Amino acid sequence: MRSFEVASDIVATDPNGNIHFDRSRERRANRVTRRFDINMGFKCNFRCKFCYYLGAINAGKTRDLSTEEVKRRLRVGRSWGKTAVDLTGGEPTMREDLAELVSFARKIGYQTVCIITNGWIIGSNKDYLQKLAEAGLNDILMSLHGPDAETHQELTGKKGSYERFLAAVERVKHTPGVRLRFNHVICEQNFEKIEKSGDLLASFEPDAMNFILFQPTRDALRAEKAIKFRSYKQVTPHLAQAIEKHRARVPRINVRDLPFCLLKGFEPHIKTMFQLQYEKVEWDYCLDVIFKKGYPFYGASAVFGAILSAENPYFRTADWDNKRHLAIQRARAFTMRKQGGACARCAITHICDGLVKDYFERCGDGELSPYSGERITNPTYFIERDELE
Ligand code: SF4
Repeated sequence: MRSFEVASDIVATDPNGNIHFDRSRERRANRVTRRFDINMGFKCNFRCKFCYYLGAINAGKTRDLSTEEVKRRLRVGRSWGKTAVDLTGGEPTMREDLAELVSFARKIGYQTVCIITNGWIIGSNKDYLQKLAEAGLNDILMSLHGPDAETHQELTGKKGSYERFLAAVERVKHTPGVRLRFNHVICEQNFEKIEKSGDLLASFEPDAMNFILFQPTRDALRAEKAIKFRSYKQVTPHLAQAIEKHRARVPRINVRDLPFCLLKGFEPHIKTMFQLQYEKVEWDYCLDVIFKKGYPFYGASAVFGAILSAENPYFRTADWDNKRHLAIQRARAFTMRKQGGACARCAITHICDGLVKDYFERCGDGELSPYSGERITNPTYFIERDELE
């Protein structure tokens, strides 16, 4: 395994984790993203081993939203001032009404309409993407989980998925006006191939590459225990190499579900739950919670999150809109994340959500190493200005 010690040109810390405090970043005013997501249902032609919903899909316990319900949510998004929407699933291209929904979204004022897709149907049907683009689709987030057919196919559970992905990328590249971004889930089976996956994805000149560490949920956990990590420290040298190699060429390389201190020197690439909602390409989680759980749950979560956030100086001085979004993310982090013993003395404890709970319980917090320096409280401190709303 290779080790890394790389300083970034935009980094705000040295590789030992000493923060060079920048008061102007700490004083930034933050605006919540104008993008949100609509999970339209769970119908899917793949059976990815790490899928959040795999248990429910296999048990046939899922339902898809009607066309009218998706349109209603699109209207709600506009009434909240949203101008960009990610249509997700399941696999959105399995819906017969997708072009109609894209067209409707553009008609009521969305400037950006994105689908998050595995690329299977786009890669297999030569006219399909053209039709969506004509309806107004202008952003695609596509998933690849290995640099070769064997790895991608093993993780997606679909024979031919790698070849179709490549064909889909080719079609997107030849469709003017459609922005291309990638998701790559990292798990036990593919972490040693991150550099190769990064090389392949970067060769398509995407707008963004998102590396997402496998995050066990109850469903995914039942589906495939073998994809759990044994140690994040095995993974981070590979991630560091991939980022270092491609960050001059790919405008955005993001890492999700990993705490800052496990990738010191690369802080601007780490995106925690407290940061996401301020990025142009990320989602409004208040709307996400309302759509998935309803208003009463949203209200209770906001109150609970506000109580947990009371000791955070940034939260105390934030405006109402920031407060409610931070509170929702704090409540979500409470159920999904856990900080370790060292975190209390860490300079960035207020903007870090710690470890994924399941990982913490299995592997402990021995890999964490706190930052020293002045305490940072502004959640967007490490994010570059042009990424923010
Ligand atoms: S708060 Fe904890 S997990 Fe986060 S960077 Fe600091 S030591 Fe690491």
